Amino acid sequence: MVMPVARHRHHHRDVDPPELASGERGPQHAQRRPNNSAPATGRDRSMAKRVLPRLTVDNRFFWESGADGKLRLLQCRDCETFVHPPYPVCHACLSDRLEPQVVVGTGTVDTYTVNYQKWRPDLDVPYVIARIAIDGAGDVILTSNVVGCPAEEVRIGDKVRVVFERQDDVYLPLFEKVA
Ligand SMILES: [Zn+2]
Repeated sequence: MVMPVARHRHHHRDVDPPELASGERGPQHAQRRPNNSAPATGRDRSMAKRVLPRLTVDNRFFWESGADGKLRLLQCRDCETFVHPPYPVCHACLSDRLEPQVVVGTGTVDTYTVNYQKWRPDLDVPYVIARIAIDGAGDVILTSNVVGCPAEEVRIGDKVRVVFERQDDVYLPLFEKVA
């Protein structure tokens, strides 16, 4: 059994997971509340308000994909390589014929790290940042959170499936363990 956390310790930031995304939305976004949300004095019981990704022409499909409960990744129509993060050109064959493709939405925990640092007052710790190898999507690995179980129950090799957490017009793809 290898030590789980050290293997990719320095690489887990390279895909901007929701918790680590550097792009802030505009202030009007941060302050807007859905009509059915908790009163201003309360907050979501299950999950802290996340820093949302900055939507671009290339990545908007990815962050809005969960609207119908499906995970989509960019796939090259010429060589079938999956390209993530979204990019205008296939890194394998340089084709620009890329289009979002529905994937099954399950995967395997490739590596993970547990965050105990309370970066913001509303952040519930500990939480798990994991790299998820996505089934049927070649080499694509998503950096996300494993939710729905205590942090200490996450292991490398765990099978997980996507669950979407909607915040404003973004559907964050998170993952929960498959029972
Ligand atoms: Zn290609």
